Amino acid sequence: MRTADVIIIGAGIIGCACARRLSSDGLRVLVLDAAFPGAGATAAGMGHIVVMDDSQAMFSLTLASREAWARLAPDLPPRAEYAAAGTLWVAADQEELDAAGHKHAFLRERGVKAELLDPDSLRGAEPNLRPGLAGGLLVPDDLVVYPPTVAAWLLGQAVRLGARAVMGSRVVRVESGRVTIADGSVFESPAIVNAGGQWSQDLTPGLPIRRRKGHLVITDRSPGFCRHQVIELGYIKKAHASDEDSVAFNIQPRPTGQVLIGSSRQFDPIDERGHGRPLDHGIDHAILARMIRRAAEYMPTLAGLRALRAWTGFRAATPDSLPLIGPHPRIPGLWLATGHEGLGVTNSLGTADLLADLMAARTPTIPAEPYSPSRVLGDG
Ligand SMILES: Cc1cc2nc3c(=O)[nH]c(=O)nc-3n(C[C@H](O)[C@H](O)[C@H](O)COP(=O)(O)OP(=O)(O)OC[C@H]3O[C@@H](n4cnc5c(N)ncnc54)[C@H](O)[C@@H]3O)c2cc1C
Repeated sequence: MRTADVIIIGAGIIGCACARRLSSDGLRVLVLDAAFPGAGATAAGMGHIVVMDDSQAMFSLTLASREAWARLAPDLPPRAEYAAAGTLWVAADQEELDAAGHKHAFLRERGVKAELLDPDSLRGAEPNLRPGLAGGLLVPDDLVVYPPTVAAWLLGQAVRLGARAVMGSRVVRVESGRVTIADGSVFESPAIVNAGGQWSQDLTPGLPIRRRKGHLVITDRSPGFCRHQVIELGYIKKAHASDEDSVAFNIQPRPTGQVLIGSSRQFDPIDERGHGRPLDHGIDHAILARMIRRAAEYMPTLAGLRALRAWTGFRAATPDSLPLIGPHPRIPGLWLATGHEGLGVTNSLGTADLLADLMAARTPTIPAEPYSPSRVLGDG
């Protein structure tokens, strides 16, 4: 018996955004999650909505998504903690200042507002930055949201449009047109979306996704301590270029006056059979200390704030750092919306639009090929 037009596995921000979008297309959507909305990486992330320039494909998806977030802003409830914080990219030296210049040119050529800052303007924008930095780049229209409440809100919108959400249902088998959950119940649908994030390779074996652990710390309240999402420009090289453990200065002002400090990146070790280790959510104190030292190098006064809590989360990384959005090349009716690594909050709305267009055989507003699962899974 057909249970729904589409079954979405996973109520992280990706599954929730897809549920809302597909429901608004008039499809009968069923969302299944082993836990609750936003229980995975979505609860652990920073919620920075940022236009990236690593590649044209990443730029197109992040910009389309940021624009979708801005359109959604008037409808978002206060608990979404939507803030037009802007991104302040910080250059420590001439090499990074040159990188800021390239980023500036790339964004401006494509119509995105961005402003180069000299050292004085940089300190004017963020007085707690240390003196002696080379300059910065302000991208004023970047945003911040609070991911778990936004995910729950997106799912609520889907339900208002007619979707069904069954939480606490762990999917144990995915086949063409059928999903089985842990209690043995079977749900049937012509279309199934794997939006399982860091678990999507368990649901669909063969997906080239590796977990990439991240640490975050939240401080006590210190209203006005920083005004923007502030990130070192070295972040770009460290975030994507290497398999090694890395830390980068990346902080975010919270509406409560707290400061969220990130971030670290550590690939899950793989054993000799190519399998990842069991999930280890524990704090790695050595990398946490490195991360905090790095932040204090940029903002020495951070050392005067009290850290209240630290936690970890796992990003779902693909080999080329682009998400997998589109049909599985060999399993009829199976769609993928996963592998968003450190940009899933940003890219959730763009992913949902792209997936909905592909499912409806409409021409997407951005080219779909760069995100096509067949680029890494091969053709059918
Ligand atoms: C430290 C850190 C900082 C980050 N900062 C940012 C940021 O500033 N900006 C940004 O854009 N992104 C950021 N990210 C990335 C972002 O959080 C993720 O890309 C995004 O949350 C992924 O969403 P998802 O829906 O794909 O996965 P998840 O949120 O992990 O959701 C997957 C869901 O699938 C469910 N599930 C899994 N297996 C099953 C099963 N068998 N049956 C049923 N349900 C199942 C889980 O319960 C879970 O709810 C950050 C991530 C981390 C870790």
